[in-house]
Amino acid sequence: MRRSKFFMPTLKETPAEAQIPSHRLMLRAGMVRQTAAGIYSWLPLGYRVLKNIEQIVREEMDATGAQEILMPTVQPAELWQESGRYEDYGKEMLRITDRHERGLLYGPTHEEIVTDIFRNSVRSYRDLPQNLYQIHWKFRDEVRPRFGVMRGREFFMKDNYSFDIDPAAARLSYNKMFVSYLRTFARMGLTPIPMQADSGAIGGDMSHEFIVLADTGESAVYCDPAWLDTDPLALDIDFDGDLQPIVDKWTELYAATDDKHDPANCPLDATKLYSGRGIEVGHIFYFGTKYSTSMGATVSDDQGKDVPVEMGSYGIGVSRLVGAIIEASHDDDGIIWPESIAPFKVGLMNLRSGDEACDAVCEKFYQDLNAAGVDTLYDERDERAGVKFAEMDLIGLPWQVAVGPRGVKAGTVEIKRRGGEREEISADSALARLT
Ligand code: ATP
Ligand code: MG
Repeated sequence: MRRSKFFMPTLKETPAEAQIPSHRLMLRAGMVRQTAAGIYSWLPLGYRVLKNIEQIVREEMDATGAQEILMPTVQPAELWQESGRYEDYGKEMLRITDRHERGLLYGPTHEEIVTDIFRNSVRSYRDLPQNLYQIHWKFRDEVRPRFGVMRGREFFMKDNYSFDIDPAAARLSYNKMFVSYLRTFARMGLTPIPMQADSGAIGGDMSHEFIVLADTGESAVYCDPAWLDTDPLALDIDFDGDLQPIVDKWTELYAATDDKHDPANCPLDATKLYSGRGIEVGHIFYFGTKYSTSMGATVSDDQGKDVPVEMGSYGIGVSRLVGAIIEASHDDDGIIWPESIAPFKVGLMNLRSGDEACDAVCEKFYQDLNAAGVDTLYDERDERAGVKFAEMDLIGLPWQVAVGPRGVKAGTVEIKRRGGEREEISADSALARLT
């Protein structure tokens, strides 16, 4: 992509409404624009990142055997009246009346819809387990939308729902999601810490919030420092195998949010405990037969008896992750994208646009990167070098390549990892390093 053609309305001034780094940087880099309170438009740079995150989430969901579906954003009120949640959900639910005076709502979550699909389609234990996911927009009329996309009203979520014949099978499904979440967040360069959360009426230990550490996080967290050195991607995981040992090994380490942390009962003494702040990026939850009972989603078991299906639901805040990753990875100059989700891998800067030799080297370099399938933003504008460097730092691409007249004469280009040191090497070696 040529910078002169790329729609990236950057801001020089720090927007006054933004209180935290990710919000400031996303606005300054032209990734998003606020359309209404807590409602954002995603511009090309931001949308590229959102799609990269979505793709990692999708790949990791598929790896567990979950299947992707797409449910409507607008839902009928009747289904929520059936489950008993229509009144309970309160003001966070955006309620709509259609031209026939029928009650609709913009979905804040999709348990009712998916339970309805299930009860109309599945009859027998032989068709279980099932696990269905979607990646789609939700609307919650948050009382205080803030921090940009981190607490929006409209936001992008991966949500999935597991269906099992009994609690033991439901635990297997839960464990798959637990392990899959560790992998998903680790692939984005994050250190996810699962924290036991309230599991509502059912009790038990099958509800976890996945928190990533960041100073600006909304929750205070306490954990065993060993969490910070764990690497979920180093594990060899077989999703058809028994994952309980892996889950046990991870949950053995102490971790709690402030509402659960009790210094008197904490197994680690205060000097050994890591304490910090964190952002909730995911939540997994086993709720048993809550919806299947109220909505009549039953299957026949191996004795021919009708039983309500055991369910769990699992969410990942896909759009929140864009902000959370920036909170976890930035410096004074701007964003530092992990390569796996960066909007472009390489930022190529022509430091003397219009100079025949510089133009020629840049054009060739750009064509070669394109031919090798390396996503590149090529800044060929007639702008000062300082402006180009500052912008590349702001938007945080993992690699920067600068081509100037001095280097061109010497047969070199300057290559730098975002946040790292500059190196002068030949264009060919630079190309080899990037492809
Ligand atoms: P929170 O406590 O932050 O409001 P929640 O418990 O309401 O979260 P869930 O219903 O479990 O969230 O939703 C799943 C995921 O969706 C959350 O872990 C979070 O990452 C994301 N999410 C929830 N609310 C928002 C929001 N208003 N804006 C952006 N992402 C959100
Ligand atoms: Mg909430």
